[in-house]
Amino acid sequence: MSIWTTIATHITTTTGKPFQAASHQSISGGCINSAALVQDGERRFFVKLNRAAALEMFAAESAGLEEIVEAGAIRAPRPLCHGTAGGQAYLVMEYIESGAPRAADAALLGEQLAALHHAQAEHFGWKMDNTIGATPQDNTCDDDWCHFWGKRRLAPQLNLAARNGYRSRLQQRGEKLLVELPRLLGEHQPAPSLLHGDLWSGNYTFDAEGMPVIFDPAVYYGDREADMAMTELFGGFSPDFYRAYEATWPLPPGYDVRKHLYNLYHILNHANLFGGGYVAQAENMLDRLLSEIG
Ligand code: ADP
Repeated sequence: MSIWTTIATHITTTTGKPFQAASHQSISGGCINSAALVQDGERRFFVKLNRAAALEMFAAESAGLEEIVEAGAIRAPRPLCHGTAGGQAYLVMEYIESGAPRAADAALLGEQLAALHHAQAEHFGWKMDNTIGATPQDNTCDDDWCHFWGKRRLAPQLNLAARNGYRSRLQQRGEKLLVELPRLLGEHQPAPSLLHGDLWSGNYTFDAEGMPVIFDPAVYYGDREADMAMTELFGGFSPDFYRAYEATWPLPPGYDVRKHLYNLYHILNHANLFGGGYVAQAENMLDRLLSEIG
């Protein structure tokens, strides 16, 4: 039986309506998985594929999408089902057609992201671990944001960097930053907001009606500034987005320093995944943050 027959059967049982994978075509653009549009002439679904060991990653992505959909603040693809077939793992979700963005859409993205951030939990972290890119992300719950950021975000990436051979300067600065972290974050008491967690410009679009859509999340509850910081990291969000977010829920003083602390996590992750210039970038960010402490 082909993987598409298994997926079609799973879609049939999940939706309670017969589905046949009459056609499936590859979709490019992903960083980690291969993707396809599968359709029967009437209904369309977006399918991610990876090796069988990725099933757990897909289960967590599915739960993350569900968490965002349930919050009802911003559109995300509704997950349908996941499983393994023919030595591969798959994740099926709603297919969302992108439309041409209109002038007001970026502002709506800012407003709706602020609304997502208003969905809050009692603790930082999340009910399950997930991945950031292909790297495991530890979401063990914590009441102390500074402790969470050091222990569950920066330290695991620094440890991974050591295992990848990035030692000396990166480790020495990284260890110092971990010790000094309370001086940068100790007074900062954010609420645990529902975060997309990997909000770069490749992970949002606008649907055919111009409504914002976010996808490919690395969900957890944390400081909303971490999402906002990442929007600045690889470019691509318009000034209207920032104006609308600020008008809806202004960011507190100190964000301009903390954003580097939050983006350090992603640059360390990129260093661990791709090496190259990201290692030097992480070292420069560490220097800059340590100079803030004096
Ligand atoms: P990866 O997990 O490999 O990074 P993405 O989730 O980023 O993959 O998806 C790859 C591409 O597929 C995206 O750039 C986007 O254009 C498109 N895409 C993602 N989710 C959907 C969806 N639900 N419907 C339609 N297209 C999608």
